[in-house]
Amino acid sequence: MLPLLNYLNGHYQPAHNGRTLPVTEPATGQPYATLPDSAAPDVDQAVRAAEAALPAWRRRPAEERGRLLLRLSELITGHLDRLAQAESQDTGKPLSLARTLDIPRAASNFAFFGTLAQHFATETHLQEGLALNYTVRHPLGVVACISPWNLPLYLLTWKIAPALAAGCCVVAKPSELTPYTAHLLGELATAAGLPPGVLNVVHGTGARAGQALVEHPSIRGISFTGGTVTGRHIAAVAAPQLKKLSLELGGKNPTLVFADCDLAEAVQTSVRSAFANQGQICLCGSRILVERPIYEQFKTEFLAQVQELTVGDPLAEATRQGALVSEAHLHKVLSYIELAYREGGHLLAGGQRVQLPGRCAGGYFVQPTVFEGLGPECRVNQEEIFGPVVTLTPFDTEQQALAWANGTEYGLSAAVWTRDLARAHRLSHQLHAGVVWVNTWLHRDLRTPFGGMKSSGVGREGGLEALRFFTEAQNVCIKL
Ligand code: NDP
Repeated sequence: MLPLLNYLNGHYQPAHNGRTLPVTEPATGQPYATLPDSAAPDVDQAVRAAEAALPAWRRRPAEERGRLLLRLSELITGHLDRLAQAESQDTGKPLSLARTLDIPRAASNFAFFGTLAQHFATETHLQEGLALNYTVRHPLGVVACISPWNLPLYLLTWKIAPALAAGCCVVAKPSELTPYTAHLLGELATAAGLPPGVLNVVHGTGARAGQALVEHPSIRGISFTGGTVTGRHIAAVAAPQLKKLSLELGGKNPTLVFADCDLAEAVQTSVRSAFANQGQICLCGSRILVERPIYEQFKTEFLAQVQELTVGDPLAEATRQGALVSEAHLHKVLSYIELAYREGGHLLAGGQRVQLPGRCAGGYFVQPTVFEGLGPECRVNQEEIFGPVVTLTPFDTEQQALAWANGTEYGLSAAVWTRDLARAHRLSHQLHAGVVWVNTWLHRDLRTPFGGMKSSGVGREGGLEALRFFTEAQNVCIKL
């Protein structure tokens, strides 16, 4: 068993209570590592280390902090294979996906914010003849970065990088299900020359380690990505202490396909947006609404491509669909497939657990699953399944598609497929979604604001929005 450890003040160490939790490889169902079952004393040690490191770190010029982040980015790229292997083993995602998406993006996060901090301009407001105002953005202080299991290193570094770039010190809490790459990040942070205490990683459960972190009085801000229920709970804990909060939560994203679209591209990308990472990306399009004149053709071509998605050992090069993250999540996804039948859905593809031979016999695999015949109000079309289960629904008018697209509690992302530019703008502005893609999906520019509306979150990450979150504005007014 591989012993994963907390990274505190630049050193690896176990939990104070000596307890550990098993880490399971989703592709095999077998434990392969242990992580510290950290509690309040570990969190407190991490926060104290961060507080001690803060004065010197925030005093450093942004360019110097940026240089260290760029070095860390290079080290991540230099360890691409090792990190991708770890991410795949830990999450069950295809190695090819970890190698081309997760780890390169983690490197980009540090490179991007390492340079962006130098372009974070100071605003001035001149009142002619009266006064000059200028805005100083002070680092918030010690902040918590809490991330989920679906894109472990990608999402954790999406928070850590802007926090460090802004001059904050960080205590990070990765998901207990996927701690491996966060563990490895400590080693790379040391090699990059990050001073001890600037970045600390505490492993453990959300209920114990995460809760202690959120409650800690010295934490000034919390950047959280995860489920809506957890987000609400964290908001309730943090509010009385007036902590700054950024919450990136769940989604139930619609894909709107109009008859005038480039059908081949719409089909190919909709398959990817439905099933990438086994549907376990918050941005996955799980409700596919198709204009009636092309519904049958879209369905035929969509199903043909779904049949091509090879479910297999995540470490095999040919695999396009790996394992779900845990046994509990497997059962949750299977329960939604049962529910789809009960709600009157008609199965078009998949619907079964996959039993693989050999090494992966105990793994948590599910076929990519497609239903039709489910109304927009049914639970399968309302609740976040976060797995390889999607619905196809024909629509007749733009207004109907828009009403269905907006008809859930979520508002994270949406994709619109059309060649009609006026419709693309019209719909984009009416969709309740923080991110709208037109004729594409998961096309990211790290400078743009990222986040959800309604129950999908509060606040925006990305670009200057992230630097604003991790800083506190102060206005200085000088009488002329
Ligand atoms: P959870 O909300 O269960 O967990 C997210 C993180 O919060 C984990 O590290 C978890 O620890 C921790 N946590 C749990 N309870 C607490 C607590 N009381 N205090 C502090 N931390 C706590 O989400 P999942 O990990 O299941 O991730 C899936 C969810 O994330 C989906 O809903 C998905 O939509 C959403 N998501 C949103 C994204 C976005 O950008 N909007 C992007 C990616 C995912 P532990 O795992 O140890 O319990």
